[in-house]
Formats: sequence, structure tokens, C-alpha cells
Amino acid sequence: MTIIEAKNVSFSFGETPALRGASIAVDQGEILAIMGPSGSGKSTLLHCLAGILVPDSGEVLFGGARIDAMPETSRSSLRRDRFGFVFQFGQLVPELTSVENVALPLLLSGVRRKQALDKAYAWFERLGLDGLEHRRSGELSGGQAQRVALARGLVAGPEVLFADEPTGALDSLTGEQVMDLLVAAAREQGTTVILVTHEPRVAAYADREVIVRDGRVNAPDRIAS
Ligand code: ADP
Repeated sequence: MTIIEAKNVSFSFGETPALRGASIAVDQGEILAIMGPSGSGKSTLLHCLAGILVPDSGEVLFGGARIDAMPETSRSSLRRDRFGFVFQFGQLVPELTSVENVALPLLLSGVRRKQALDKAYAWFERLGLDGLEHRRSGELSGGQAQRVALARGLVAGPEVLFADEPTGALDSLTGEQVMDLLVAAAREQGTTVILVTHEPRVAAYADREVIVRDGRVNAPDRIAS
């Protein structure tokens, strides 16, 4: 069953076309890797699917509803309540401790502080982060910070997790550990994952991969033929 879909989506940054009629449908619970060369439109596609960018033309549907036609306030609620995000450089809030960073999406959704922190603490053991709860991001290694970012992306039980080069700043062993945790947690929660990467060994964790070239989506076998 399709949970999220882009239909013939085009988007330009001023004069620069980033997407030129991109279409993709992602199944509920699927882990999808979006591959392709740098500048091909992968991040722009992810941002359109997540309702961060609104396409110039085409449609984006989540659960059958047109999110590209929603006002920004509705898209922002959707991102807060039903989507999770992990970016290349963690983007933790430096003033907050790790556990406060993980609790943040819950606090923003109106969950009480005690309950939000209790939920956040539970992720530390699960992700091998025991003892790091009260450190700030400047006191974490890259791999630790990215695991904290992963916990923050998953803590609210999102329906879709958007991950943009989540291992791009990590060495390969650390990257594999982060991907193992991401995939295990997503499968356990039934979370759909849309993962942008240019690394085949990261894409290998996905159920399916597609390739973006020149702002359009191709299945790999169609590229080869
Ligand atoms: P990828 O994720 O595959 O590297 P992007 O989606 O980031 O590709 O970019 C697609 C195209 O849009 C590229 O030509 C890029 O230079 C351009 N682009 C991306 N972001 C911006 C921006 N904020 N302003 C102007 N051009 C942009």
C-alpha cells in the first residue's frame, strides 16, 4: 500500500531546474534508497516529499491527501507530528543535552516534559548511548551525535523517516553501525524510511533503490537497459 507519492513533480531554484517531472511511490513500511549523482535532485525530491518545499507543478500525496496543496501551517504540523528527520550533520541543538535533544520533537508536540524525557532516556540504551544522556553535542563523537539524531528522528514514532545522507559525515564502520540501528528501529516500529545517499553500501540496507538523474526518477534496471 502506497503511503507517500510524488507525481510528475517539477521544482526550480530560480532559473536552476532541480526536478523535472519526478515520480515515485513508496509503500508503507518500505525502506527506500534514493541514489544518484551529486546535483541530480535527490535532496530536492526528499524535501518535496516531506512538505518542506512545494513543487512548482505536480502533486505530492501522503496517505492519499495532497500535501502540496496544504497551507504551510498544515504541512508544518504534518512534519512535526507524523514525519521524522535525520540529516547529514545531525544538527543537534548545541545548547541542549543529548536527552533534551531527543525529547525535543515530543516537547514540540505538547508532550509533558517528564514524559518526554522518560521516552527519550529509553533510546539511549537501545542505541548504545548509555552514559551520554547529559552531554552536549560538542562533547560527542560524530557517530554518537548521529545516533542521538537518529533517536530524535524516531522518538515520536513517525510514520515516515526522511534521512538525507545520514552517514555522509561518518567513516564506513561508524556509518554501518548507524545504518544497522536505523533499519532495526524502523522495522520494529513499522516506519517507512526514505533515505538519500550516494553510497551503494548504504543503499544496500534498503528494500529498494531508485536513481535520480537530471531531476527524474529511474529504476536501476531501466538505466542499465
Ligand atoms: P542532490 O541532492 O542530488 O545533490 P539537489 O537536490 O541538492 O541535488 O540539487 C539539485 C539542483 O538544484 C542542483 O543543480 C543544485 O545546484 C540546485 N540547488 C539545490 N539547492 C539549491 C538552492 N538552495 N539554491 C539554488 N540552487 C539549488
